[in-house]
Amino acid sequence: MDKLIYINGEWVGADLAKIVVRNPATGEAVGTVPRAGAEETRRAIEAAHEAFPSWSRLTAYERSAYLERFHDLIVDSADEIARVLTLEMGKPLKEALGEVMYAASFVKWFAEEGKRVYARGIPSHKAETRMLAIKQPVGVVAAITPWNFPAAMITRKLGPALAAGCTIIIKPAKQTPLTAIMLAELAEKAGIPKGVVNLVTGNAAEIGNEFMTNPMVRKVTFTGSTEIGKELIRQSADHVKNLSLELGGHAPIIVLDDADLEKAVRGAVASKFRNGGQTCICGNRIYVQEKVYDAFIAKFAEAVRKLKVGNGMDPGVDIGPIIDRDGYEKIDAHVKDAVRLGASCVLGGEGRAENGAYFYPPTILKDVRPGMLIMREETFGPVAPVQKFSADEEAARYANDTPYGLAAYVFTENYSRGIKLVEALDFGIIGWNDGLPSAAQAPFGGMKQSGIGREGGIEGIDAFLEVKYVSVGL
Ligand code: NAP
Repeated sequence: MDKLIYINGEWVGADLAKIVVRNPATGEAVGTVPRAGAEETRRAIEAAHEAFPSWSRLTAYERSAYLERFHDLIVDSADEIARVLTLEMGKPLKEALGEVMYAASFVKWFAEEGKRVYARGIPSHKAETRMLAIKQPVGVVAAITPWNFPAAMITRKLGPALAAGCTIIIKPAKQTPLTAIMLAELAEKAGIPKGVVNLVTGNAAEIGNEFMTNPMVRKVTFTGSTEIGKELIRQSADHVKNLSLELGGHAPIIVLDDADLEKAVRGAVASKFRNGGQTCICGNRIYVQEKVYDAFIAKFAEAVRKLKVGNGMDPGVDIGPIIDRDGYEKIDAHVKDAVRLGASCVLGGEGRAENGAYFYPPTILKDVRPGMLIMREETFGPVAPVQKFSADEEAARYANDTPYGLAAYVFTENYSRGIKLVEALDFGIIGWNDGLPSAAQAPFGGMKQSGIGREGGIEGIDAFLEVKYVSVGL
């Protein structure tokens, strides 16, 4: 599968050096994409800049019609996209299909939400003036996305950007550009005018630098690691670039002693092991109240033992490969550090590397302690460390003891204890008796070093709009 980049409605880049995309389950080549740099990025930005006036002048209803067509094409091609997504990213095919439908839901939601970008009339303090606040598209948007959700992280930006009247250049992760390119192909098929959607693959630092320094780019929206997010904040200073950042997480799962343990186990398995633990909102550490600590671990282990590891294309597989060697080594280091410092392994604990493919079994560690690496850094793998606590306030203190603030999970049947905990937690997303809280219609984003801004929900389109205040003298 040899693909090209998409600039101004044309597929180009055949003359450029190639990036080989590999299947993380086998190490085999799946396809190639061009290794573009600053020059191609500049052309894509110019195309988006050129297309902006006519796209932004369309009515919200006209833009919505394009997005509805785009949505329907994604749904019609869901099986095909999911197959490519699994081949390049590794997640089980059923999860890939779930992601494609989730990705489509952002396009649908924002196709509708674009029609509700309301202006506001403000009562004036002077009889002879009228005051208005109107909203307008921010302009050309550059979107940088990660490999762990190759489809949804794109549509969560593309949907609201286009609905708001912005044009866009997408830069997907090097591991997963093929899914992104399929989405751009469908945008073209939906008839979205040339230059409105552009896509470049290649040298991240060069492309990123062009995004951050080119004055035609008015907004950069990024999903990825906190480390690169910080770098983009530094780079944004010179141009005061409008930035939205969806960064890393280190989600706590808190199980209180009145929790329905079946529900807690179901939620913890879903949160922790979806995508092999390679999600920004996956539970990274589990705190269980002492009275139910042993019972929870027993039930949790019973459920986790059933998860099957393997090639995501094989039926019945629940956990695919780890994305690459770096990811695998980090997981291994976290487990070894915890065991060295006194944690014990209830399940798993030993990965396998074969022919350039890396697999890690679902692993449960018990009796972990706060200082261990796994309790501080994002593991991004199928490892669940469990720590005991006694009082509710202690759980909140442990949970908040992190520079991250993306997602947290609380399991309790008691509304009073639940509400107090929800209010005490410094996280942007809380799953209360729910291990899978994400949805297109809900705001998604982090506090502290997990990011700036929200995607999805009625908040999601604001990132692509400027508020203009107009004072009219009569
Ligand atoms: P990453 O290394 O930060 O990469 C993310 C994107 O940034 C990729 O497209 C990458 O390109 C690009 N990039 C790398 N260096 C860059 C530079 N100097 N300038 C501009 N762009 C640059 O993150 P990842 O490993 O792909 O993704 C995993 C991380 O994303 C985790 O920390 C996870 O928590 C986070 N995440 C957050 C959310 C959220 O909504 N908060 C959602 C999903 C993932 P190349 O691939 O070409 O290097």
